[in-house]
Amino acid sequence: MSKALSVYYKAFETQIAEIDKAVQSGSAKPRLLLHACCGPCSSAVLELLVKYFDITILYYNPNIFPETEYLRRKDELCKFLPAFLGEKAPRVIELAYKPQDFYEAVKTVDGFETMPEKDERCRMCYRLRLARCAKEAFDRQFDYFTTTLSISPHKDAQKINEEGKAAELDLEKTHAGAQKIPQYLYADFKKKNGFKRSLELSAEYGLYRQDYCGCVYSSRNSTRGADSETTV
Ligand code: SF4
Repeated sequence: MSKALSVYYKAFETQIAEIDKAVQSGSAKPRLLLHACCGPCSSAVLELLVKYFDITILYYNPNIFPETEYLRRKDELCKFLPAFLGEKAPRVIELAYKPQDFYEAVKTVDGFETMPEKDERCRMCYRLRLARCAKEAFDRQFDYFTTTLSISPHKDAQKINEEGKAAELDLEKTHAGAQKIPQYLYADFKKKNGFKRSLELSAEYGLYRQDYCGCVYSSRNSTRGADSETTV
């Protein structure tokens, strides 16, 4: 993996600079809907973003298998937030757990059951979650939306960012003329030691760190160790 800053991190920095300038000039912090998959991946992302945004977390992860794992990751996240941020802890919106959403999305990809991570099955998984995040951001009048997913070195930042921006453009088409369309916040949160920081915070707060990405296919194929790598 290249250590150079990705084009997406640079785009993120440009967006953040504009937001910071507006806030310094007296504007309210923009509202961000942050799709999150688990506590470990949220930790360093929240630390980075809380200064700039009024954040709400969206827990929409129909990819996670089995349901007990889905619930465990959610519970860990919900316990971590107040422990980490106290009164500034974001509220969490949880959408109904419907694994069929995930299976419908990935079955369009040939060979999806045996693909390695970062391949086209994962693109469909990013697309599903980011499109829903964009929809919720529009319905609930957020200014921005994004996801924690790019903090993991197991994820493809290019695919994530392409899908995030595409979700924003879809909103523009579907809601042409609307007063406000939430913008996608570019991200490559693993950069600038973001991933390393997530490991530190996970250790500090004793977070449960799963050893597979989330779906049943990743649980079968995983060679990861939770002690050395983060997930989803
Ligand atoms: S490996 Fe992870 S990102 Fe890829 S499809 Fe499975 S849960 Fe989704």
